[in-house]
Amino acid sequence: MRPFTDTELKEYIKNAKKYCAKGKVATYIPALARKNKKDLGVFVMLESGEEYAAGDYKEKFSMQSVSKPFVLLLAMQDWGIEKVLEKVGLESTGDGFNSVVRLETADTHKPFNPMINAGAIAVTSMVKGKTVDERFERLLNFIRLIAESEDIHLNQEIYESELATGNRNRSLAYFMEGEGFLATPSQEALEVYFKQCSIEVTAKNLAQMGLFLARGGVLSDGTRVVSEEEARLVRSIIASCGLYDESGEFAAKVGIPAKSGVGGGIMCAIKPDMGIGIYGPALNAKGNSLAGIEVLKQLVKDHDLCIY
Ligand code: GLN
Repeated sequence: MRPFTDTELKEYIKNAKKYCAKGKVATYIPALARKNKKDLGVFVMLESGEEYAAGDYKEKFSMQSVSKPFVLLLAMQDWGIEKVLEKVGLESTGDGFNSVVRLETADTHKPFNPMINAGAIAVTSMVKGKTVDERFERLLNFIRLIAESEDIHLNQEIYESELATGNRNRSLAYFMEGEGFLATPSQEALEVYFKQCSIEVTAKNLAQMGLFLARGGVLSDGTRVVSEEEARLVRSIIASCGLYDESGEFAAKVGIPAKSGVGGGIMCAIKPDMGIGIYGPALNAKGNSLAGIEVLKQLVKDHDLCIY
């Protein structure tokens, strides 16, 4: 692999900046609408300890859907892979991340995959804990453990904004509760889900989390947190469903396992030794970071990182 340099990452950011203007910050969650759509940052972390970064990589932003792969890991820890897959499938939908349509039209009414909102809410309902607070604390601490940082917190303003505008997610949860796909009452699952979306991170945190998956579920000090099988399942599911109804195009044009969120984050996990975190809140129509994808296109091509 060609070595990285900060200068080259700066060049990628400079080349991709023009795409920021073409994107839109997520306005359906009002607190996200205040983000600066010109921001764009990248952080590359290697197993060797080398780190490279450029642009607005120090900015904090909400994880949103980037939380989904990690909540999936926690649910698999709590129930085992088979039990989790009784509540959620592993197929991409080709529909938007918050789509309702397939829940009713599919034979089983089971959510298609854990990366769309429906499947993610079902998975969140499986995180164990006596109270909602305990479930969220476990989830937050799990994310801190994997990101190897204690400086990760809930953004209360974003959480309140999610609560105020989350009726589509409520409709998904109520429907799934009726069909028996939630392990806790819908209200409780939704509270934890809205909170997990509002956890704030940086591009560096995402790079560290990507590296954890790339290494197969192990922290940088060698501690195993999840099994290789669980880490592989998550890498595969983000490769096929991580960018919602843009996952096929992303696989064809970029070609690495990645998970996006409407906060503008993209986390990438490249086996065996690389994590990449992106922040760029200007989104395309599918809810993915427009300029962020452009940075990844250049980086993956130059360094020959495509996995296919
Ligand atoms: N909080 C967002 C929602 O539920 C997360 C979706 C996303 O990041 N695509 O609509």
